[in-house]
Amino acid sequence: MLKQKQQQLQKLNEDMDTLCACALKKTALNTVVGKGSANAKIMFIGEAPGKKEDEKGEPFIGAAGKFLSELLATIDLKREDIYITNVVKYRPPNNRDPLPQEVTDCWFWLQKQINFIDPILIIPLGRYALERFVPGRKISEDHGKAFRRDMDGIGRRVFYALYHPAAALYNGSLRDTLIVDFARIPKIIKAIEEDINNNQK
Ligand code: URA
Repeated sequence: MLKQKQQQLQKLNEDMDTLCACALKKTALNTVVGKGSANAKIMFIGEAPGKKEDEKGEPFIGAAGKFLSELLATIDLKREDIYITNVVKYRPPNNRDPLPQEVTDCWFWLQKQINFIDPILIIPLGRYALERFVPGRKISEDHGKAFRRDMDGIGRRVFYALYHPAAALYNGSLRDTLIVDFARIPKIIKAIEEDINNNQK
C-alpha cells in the first residue's frame, strides 16, 4: 500500500518535471520536486532550491539541509519520515526571490503534492514560505506558533511557522530558537491527532 502510494507520488513528480510551465525551467539545471515519504505526517516547505539543490535535483542538501537533519534528529525523526519540498521547484537565477508568476506556476504542483500526501502538519520554513501560506504574519513574531487556515486548493490545514534553517546557521540565538521551536513539534502532532480522533468519534 505504502509502496504503491510512493510510486504514485513519483509519477506525480515526474509529471511535474515534464509539464510544469514555470519560466525558471529555462535557467535551472533540474526540477527539484521534493523528497521523502508519501505517507508523511509532516511536510516541510522551504522557499526555492539553492545552487547545490539545482545541481543535484534534491531539496535541502546543502548546509541548511544538514542542519535540518540535525534538528529532525532532536525529535527522533529522519528525513525519510517526513516530506520536504519548496514553494518554487526551480532555482531562481542568483538566488533572487521568486516572482509572483513563478510561484503561481509552481503552486499548481505544490497543491497536488499537498493533497496527495495529505500531511496533518505543514511547516513553512522562513518568512517567504510563511507568507505564502499564512499571509500578513511576521516570522520574527510568529515563529513557534501554529495556525489553522482554509486555503484555496488545499482546504483546511494546520501550519506551524519556523525560521528557515539557513537563517539560523550563522546566528547563535536564532539557532537556539529553532531548536526550542522544533522541540514542540511532537506535542503539536499529538494534539492534532487527538483532535482528528475526537472528530471521528
Ligand atoms: N533553501 C530552501 O529554501 N530550499 C532548499 O531546497 C534549499 C535551501
